[in-house]
Amino acid sequence: MTMRASCLLVFAFLTGAPAGAVAETRLCTNGLITVQSDTPTHLGAMCSASDRALSLMDECGLRKPAPVTISVSDLDPPTCLGLFHCGEATIEVLSPDMIEARRSETGVYSDIPADRLFESVIVHELGHAAMDQTPCPYGNCVATSEYFAYTFQLLDLSEEDRATVVPQAEQPVDVKRDQINSMLLFMAPDVFVRNVWGHVSSRGDICTQLRGVQDGIIVFDRFHP
Ligand SMILES: [Zn+2]
Repeated sequence: MTMRASCLLVFAFLTGAPAGAVAETRLCTNGLITVQSDTPTHLGAMCSASDRALSLMDECGLRKPAPVTISVSDLDPPTCLGLFHCGEATIEVLSPDMIEARRSETGVYSDIPADRLFESVIVHELGHAAMDQTPCPYGNCVATSEYFAYTFQLLDLSEEDRATVVPQAEQPVDVKRDQINSMLLFMAPDVFVRNVWGHVSSRGDICTQLRGVQDGIIVFDRFHP
């Protein structure tokens, strides 16, 4: 079974949505990612973020996703910054303006400027896309998929931005595997993200860890009777 749709959560709701406009579509020069937005200035940033994500996959020896279309969207229901639709090869992301409008609800990312957070969300969602073919022995492997996507996203951030997400003084140490779980993800996503970084950065080579997760060898989810 493959992973279910995964979203980068914020626990709040938008009011209103901008009127629709004709979206422009561009195939990025990487040849794998197609981007869509009704604001043409988004397209370069979207391709740039997807270039970085694919380069990181190359550097780590990870499987790349099947061709994916990424669209700037109001995300209905608007509970996410970004959303990967598994099995459909599509990703929706909020625009930088919408992210800014929800600044107070971006949790652990609240200190990252909206334009950089926009690109970072794309990298996160492409992490989910790269996990789409990973076997899951349970009903879902949401914690495992988020572990991969958050690690991927944190690797893409500058050290300066990453330090706002996981301050050195607050980086958890000696994180056990059972401290990465779906309950924590939904109840305390900030703690989940910091636990992910505390876990992945203390186990030797991060790429090796990511390959183990993508190959289905490392699984954080459990069977729930
Ligand atoms: Zn996610």
